[in-house]
Amino acid sequence: MTLPINEAHRINIPQLDMPPRTLLGPGPSNAHPRVLQAAGAPLVGHLDPAFVSLMDEVKELLRYTFQTDNELTIPISGTGSAAMEASLANTIETGDVVLVGIIGYFGERIAEMAGRYGADVRLLEQEWGKVFSLKELRAGLEKHRPAILALVHGETSSGACQPLEGVGELCREYDCLLLVDTVASLAGVPFYTDAWQVDIVYSGAQKCLSSPPGVSPLTLGPRAIEQIQNRKSKVANWYLDITLLMNYWGSNRVYHHTAPINLNYALREALRLVAEEGLAQRWARHRQTAELLWDGLAESGLSCYIPDPAIRLHSLTTVQVPDGVDAKNVAGRLLNEYNIEIAGGFGPLAGKVWRVGLMGYNSRRENVTLLIEAMRQIIN
Ligand SMILES: *Cc1c(COP(=O)(O)O)cnc(C)c1O
Repeated sequence: MTLPINEAHRINIPQLDMPPRTLLGPGPSNAHPRVLQAAGAPLVGHLDPAFVSLMDEVKELLRYTFQTDNELTIPISGTGSAAMEASLANTIETGDVVLVGIIGYFGERIAEMAGRYGADVRLLEQEWGKVFSLKELRAGLEKHRPAILALVHGETSSGACQPLEGVGELCREYDCLLLVDTVASLAGVPFYTDAWQVDIVYSGAQKCLSSPPGVSPLTLGPRAIEQIQNRKSKVANWYLDITLLMNYWGSNRVYHHTAPINLNYALREALRLVAEEGLAQRWARHRQTAELLWDGLAESGLSCYIPDPAIRLHSLTTVQVPDGVDAKNVAGRLLNEYNIEIAGGFGPLAGKVWRVGLMGYNSRRENVTLLIEAMRQIIN
C-alpha cells in the first residue's frame, strides 16, 4: 500500500535572484569574480587524482599566505569558527591552563570553546578598542603559567589589531604555545607565522581572502604537533581530529569526510590571486584603502572609534556614530537604498559604532567613495 504524500511543504518558489550587495561589513566580503567562476567547475570525487593535486596546490599556497614552512597546513571544512574549534580541540587536554587575551568578542568565543574542551580558562581582559602591550602579556604569562596563550590578531568586533612582534619569544620563554586567530586579518594585514613564532594559526575564507565561507585555513607548527602527538586522551571532536584529517590531507589519502570540493576550488583561486598580487602589495593595498576611508570619514565630520591609527585594523574600521544619529537606521538605508552592507556594533559598542570592512577584493578605492558618498547623503 502506498502512503499519501504530504504536499504541505511542496512550495513553488521562483528561481534564486539575490540582490547585488556590496559587502562592506565585518564579513563575508564579496567573492572575487574569478573565485565564483572557479567554484562552478565540475565536481570530481574527493580522491580523484585531479582533486588530490589541487589539495597539494592549496596547501602550498596556504603556506605562502601564512608565511610558514609548516608541513601541517590545510583548509578545515567549515567556517572560521570550525578552524578555531580544531585549533583548541586538538591542543587542549582536560585541566590545561589556557590564557585567553580578550580585546573583543572573538576572544570571548575562544574562551567559551576552550572551556568546553576542559581547559582551565584564565582571562586577560582589555577594553574593546585597545590591545595588549608586551609587558601586560608577560605579566599574564607570569601569573597564570598557561599551556597555551590565545590571542586575536584582527578583532572584528572592535576594529583593533593586536601587535604580535615579540609575543612568540615571550611564549617560548614561558614554555607555552601561542595560538592566534587571523580570521579577519590573513591576506589583508602583515602576518608572519614562522618569523613571529606562532604555533597555531587559523583563518577564514570569506574575509580578506574573498572566497565563500565554508573552508578555513589552519597551520600548526612543530611544537603544536608535538603536543598533539603526546596527548594522553583522544581528541573529543571526531570531525576536527587533526590526526585523522592528516590521513586524508597527508600522503595516505584515506577517506575521513568528503571535502567540500567546490569550496576548495574557490579557495584555490582566491589563494592564486594572493600569490599573483604578492603579499607585500596586498597588505599595502589594504592599508592604503583603509587610510583613504579614514581621510574620507574625517572630511565628512565622522571619526574612527580607535584614536591611534597604529592599532587600527586595516581590513575593518570602527566608525563612531555621531550624537543624535540612529546607527541602525543608517545601516538599514545603506542596504535598502544603496545595496551596501555595513554592520553596527554589539556588546559594549552597541549603538556606538558602525563596522566597515574593506576586505580582500572589496579593498578598493571606488568602494570607499561609494560608501562615503552614500553616508553623506543619508546623514545630512
Ligand atoms: C569572522 C570571525 C570569526 C568566525 O568566523 P566564522 O567564519 O564566522 O565562523 C572568528 N574570528 C574572527 C576574528 C572573525 O572576524
